[in-house]
Amino acid sequence: MIIILFGPPGAGKGTQADLLKEKLNLLHLSTGDILREEVNNGTELGLLAKKFMDAGELVTDELIIGMIKNKIISNTTDKGFLLDGFPRTISQAEALDQMLEENSLKVEKVISLEVEDDELINRLLLRGRSDDNRETITNRLEVYKKQTLPIKNYYSEFGLLIEIKGDDSIEEVFNNIITSI
Ligand code: ADP
Repeated sequence: MIIILFGPPGAGKGTQADLLKEKLNLLHLSTGDILREEVNNGTELGLLAKKFMDAGELVTDELIIGMIKNKIISNTTDKGFLLDGFPRTISQAEALDQMLEENSLKVEKVISLEVEDDELINRLLLRGRSDDNRETITNRLEVYKKQTLPIKNYYSEFGLLIEIKGDDSIEEVFNNIITSI
């Protein structure tokens, strides 16, 4: 089973992913977490990615797609995947489809967490990660709308999209996701 958790920065993807991976026995792949680990370890990928992350821009498709391919190929368990923060562009979505098809797999559901901008900004400012400053947040939300939001249509045309209100309590959001899939 391959599930995509979709939504803007601050929508609660990471929080829900932690609950969902236990409940559904999935391997959680967060591109943001993987990239931050690469940055902390000072790898070549980390060095390349850091300047984009600090500016609230997307890391290039080429780097991200290569990184995800490695993670999917090197996964030897028979667990499914919970993708969080990927895909984030149409090119990434197409590359994902292609790599899954090559392995006779497909995306099962795309769960889109819906939260208003004002609430997202409040949450991110409270979270206070190093890229959670006002300027970067504004840019990330713009980048999300321009480059990532079109993916919703892409998956909706395949009948895979489920929209969930993301501003209820953590438990309510979780229960709504479980009920919907
Ligand atoms: P957020 O809560 O802002 O969505 P993430 O942890 O998902 O944070 O991502 C942090 C940063 O990592 C993004 O701003 C972007 O620079 C980079 N990133 C993560 N996933 C991707 C991706 N799929 N494509 C391009 N860049 C990505």
